[in-house]
Amino acid sequence: MRKLALPPGCPKMSYANSILAKHEPVKTFLTNHTPLVEQAIDDYINKLPLLQAINRPIIQPHERDQYTSVFSSRTNAFKEIITQMRFGQTSNYTKEYCQYCGINLNKSIDHFFPKEIYPLLSAATINLIPCCKDCNTNKSTRVYDSAGVREFINFYYDDFLDIEFLKCSIIFPGSSAVPSIVFSLQLTGLISYAQSVVQNHFNKLKLINIYGAVVGCYFEELTSECRDAAQAADLQNTINNKRNAMVPIYGVNYFKVALLKELAAQHSSFFHYLHV
Ligand SMILES: [Zn+2]
Repeated sequence: MRKLALPPGCPKMSYANSILAKHEPVKTFLTNHTPLVEQAIDDYINKLPLLQAINRPIIQPHERDQYTSVFSSRTNAFKEIITQMRFGQTSNYTKEYCQYCGINLNKSIDHFFPKEIYPLLSAATINLIPCCKDCNTNKSTRVYDSAGVREFINFYYDDFLDIEFLKCSIIFPGSSAVPSIVFSLQLTGLISYAQSVVQNHFNKLKLINIYGAVVGCYFEELTSECRDAAQAADLQNTINNKRNAMVPIYGVNYFKVALLKELAAQHSSFFHYLHV
């Protein structure tokens, strides 16, 4: 769970360039809406970093349909915007993996503010999040909960991703049986609005369940990699080194990073587990 690099260039310029590729009468339609689109982009850029709600632009249904059709994922204009956005990512992790779960490849693109409700943002680079199809489906078109709190983390602008909030707990059974590994959220380090956003994000995307389902494979991998450690202290060093190498790539709230932290804390139990 890392921030995405902001797409290169100004999102207003990307919009202007995408209009150039269009033919009449769409070109005139989009050109006439440029001030409204620029206002929507400014609203996004100014309010998201402050965790404020953005305005829902007033637009006629036929205009909304026009937007969703001219910037549908099949159009060259939209494909060009996606290429730019992907090109701007500096790490292979954010280039290739789903931003929401961090596990599957990002074969899909989510409109953070759904194009059906915020059509003026349908071609804004900063509104596009590479993700997997499952997360895109789970996210659906929700934006704010009934209390007006955002439902999802925004990976371009939210600044709280370096604060640890994903916790892993492990219970070693005292035999060679597979330990119980459980993830939970520990949100006390975050301001209250961010706590709600993270809680919503994990609930809606079912991330605790997803991490619980995939962690067993990674734990197996680790047991074979760590079996050679001669002493518990060596094992602790190995685990810490793995975690330190992972944090800059995946962030502190990645399930593998949280698991490694807990294994380092419980290195004696893990050592015993590896040698029974
Ligand atoms: Zn995903």
